[in-house]
Parts: sequence; structure tokens; C-alpha cells
Amino acid sequence: MDELAIHGGDPVRTDPFPAWPVSSDAEERALRAVLASGRWSSTHGSEVRAFEREFADYQQAEHCVAVCNGTLGLTAALKALGVGIGDEVVMPAYTFVGSATAALMIGAIPVFADVDPSTHLLDPRSTEAAITDRTAAIMPVHLAGQPCDMDALLKVASSRGLAVVEDAAQGHGAEWRGQRVGALGDAGMFSFQTSKNMTAGEGGAVATNSADVGRRLYAQANVGRVPDGDWYQHEHVGFNLRLTEFQAVILREQLRRHPAQTRHRETQWNRLTEQVAGVPRLSMPVIDERVTAHGRHLFTFRVAGLEGLAHKKRFVRALAAEGIPVSGGYVGLHHNEAIRREIRTITGRLGRPEPVSELPATDDVVAEAMWLSPQTLLGTHEDAETIAAAIRKVLDHSTQL
Ligand SMILES: *Cc1c(COP(=O)(O)O)cnc(C)c1O
Repeated sequence: MDELAIHGGDPVRTDPFPAWPVSSDAEERALRAVLASGRWSSTHGSEVRAFEREFADYQQAEHCVAVCNGTLGLTAALKALGVGIGDEVVMPAYTFVGSATAALMIGAIPVFADVDPSTHLLDPRSTEAAITDRTAAIMPVHLAGQPCDMDALLKVASSRGLAVVEDAAQGHGAEWRGQRVGALGDAGMFSFQTSKNMTAGEGGAVATNSADVGRRLYAQANVGRVPDGDWYQHEHVGFNLRLTEFQAVILREQLRRHPAQTRHRETQWNRLTEQVAGVPRLSMPVIDERVTAHGRHLFTFRVAGLEGLAHKKRFVRALAAEGIPVSGGYVGLHHNEAIRREIRTITGRLGRPEPVSELPATDDVVAEAMWLSPQTLLGTHEDAETIAAAIRKVLDHSTQL
């Protein structure tokens, strides 16, 4: 058997995978036009407004406010919905740190619920069990581009009178029962950070179907201004989260390219699924049949039988050494010391005990799941073959790791 590349053997592949982000002359022309116009800010130009309209339509939302990044977009969404100091926001711990930061930055408390082990997404039953009389909102995270069980989560929220803020940072184009994510709940955030399927280097957007929430979001992103108010008329206390006109023209081009890229990603996803079918110990998250479109952001898989997180890290390093861009994924926010410290600070000041999170399914996912870098999904049939070959090779040697 071939030796592993980390042990000095030949890697399965040395060819690079497709580059990301993708751009063309269209971006270059649009950027030059903004530069020459002198209208670099959305306070003077019309590109951000045009993008907001186009992206709202794309996600089948009534309203959309562009923001400078997804993390602050989530904060703005929570604030626009009245979430504040001491309010609890139920969310998964298996997510990017920004989901929790968004709540903590306004003095709200993230309360972690478990994931469904078959999907790796927020579990509605665990969500319900985490609700207290201090809960103000639920934050489903459409991880990897896969929508959460929104039927169940919206039902839990409406029966308890809670706001729903979707973290759709990875959910561009994703659809639950024929309806695109983002405005399924009260508001939903998208990220255009450089790793996402649509990017301007940084950036974000918040979608909503409520005109009132839309106005509040506008205020949160525009130092408390109201859409038709005067320049020095600040009716709310809000951030400045504005996106520049430069970013907006890039995003308008990215949006045009997104449907074809998503079809490519889907094709590659299906090839990968075919290639790894029958590989022992390997499994992929189950996609609910009510998911009518998957965002195809991260091809995630689990390896059973690893001996804990340290072993998984060695597995990921070995696979990377074979030439496959792979990540060990999230480590669980309930284990993050900075997040826990901040939660203790806020709950301590309010004279409340620190909430405890027992999340066995999350811990299992953390111990076993990994994902391919997003640009691997823009590859070829041969790319899918080499990825599967590398996974098989590392699995064959996993006791030596
Ligand atoms: C990327 C991401 C964010 C944060 O978005 P930024 O634009 O990087 O601030 C939040 N949640 C999830 C799940 C993400 O993937």
C-alpha cells in the first residue's frame, strides 16, 4: 500500500483546485466606472440600492439591507427585532463564532441547543427544550448551504412568540419547500465574506418580508437614520454598516454568476457523492426532502471510528497532505473560552447563573465531521476521483495516524 504523504509518500495529487473568487472583465469595468464617477458611497450612488433590490428578488424577500459583513448584519437583525440586554437567543453551538458574537455584542446571551445528528443542523426539539421565559429569539443556521427544518422551528417560535433570525451566511440560493431562505423567519443574514459562494471580499445583507423590520434594519445600518428622513435626523441608535459602491458592483456581477456556479457545484457534489459511495466509515449529512434547493457551500462528511478530536485533526492533516483542501470544521462554541467568559460576564452582572449546555450530538459531529474547501465544488470529474482516492488512502492508514 502507498505510504501517506505526511509519512513521506507521494501525495495523491499536486494539481491545484480551481481558484476562488472568480471575476472577469465585467467586475473590472464596473469598478472603474464607480471610481470615475466619484460616487463611492451608497449615500451618493445607486449601486448598493440596485444590488439590494436584485438580491431581495433572488432570495424571494420583500426587503434587503446591504451591510459591511455578516456578523454585524446578524447583530443589526437582532437589534431591529428588539433583542437586547439579557435576552436569550437559542442557536446551535456547531456554527461560526459570528452567530454567537452577534448576540453578545448587544448584551444578549447565546443559549446553545443541540444539532440533529443526521443533518448537523439545529434540532427543533433541543431548541424547544432550551427556551426559557427570557428567550427572545431563535437563530437557525443553514450550515453548508443546507436549510434547517424551518417548519418545525417556525412552529416552535410562533407557539412561544419568539423572533426568528436566520443565519443564512452560507445559504445563498438555498430553498426550503420552494421558498428561498432569509425571509422565512423575521429576518435573515447572508455573508459575502471571501470564502462564501458569493463575495465582495467582505460584505453582507439582511433580508426580511416586513416593511417595518426593513426600516429598522435600514436605521441599524445607517446610524439610526430613517429611509426618507433628513441627513441629521436620527430616530434610532444604530451602527454605520454601509457597504461601498465598489463592493456593490462586484456583488451584482457575482449574483449574475451565482446560478450557473451553483449548478456546477451541484454537479460536482453529486459526483463526489457517487465517488465516495460505499467507502466504509464515511457518511454525509442527510438532506431533508423538503430542501428544494441546497446552497452547495460545503461538502461535509463524517468519519466514524476516529479516536477523538486529536485523531480527527491528524486525519485532516493527512488528507490535506495528499493535496486535498479540507477543514476540520467548527469546534463547538460551547467549548470556546472567550464566548463562555463573555456569557459569564453578562449573566453575572444580571445576577443569573451561567446556562449549561449538554450537547452530545454536537460533540459527536465535532469529533467526526470535516468539509472540503468550497472551491473544490467548482472542479472536474477527475477532481472528484482524486478526492475520493485520497479519502480512501487516508482511511486505509488511519490506524497509523
Ligand atoms: C461567514 C459566517 C458568518 C459571519 O459572516 P461574516 O461576513 O464573515 O461576518 C456567520 N455565520 C456563519 C454560519 C458563517 O458561515
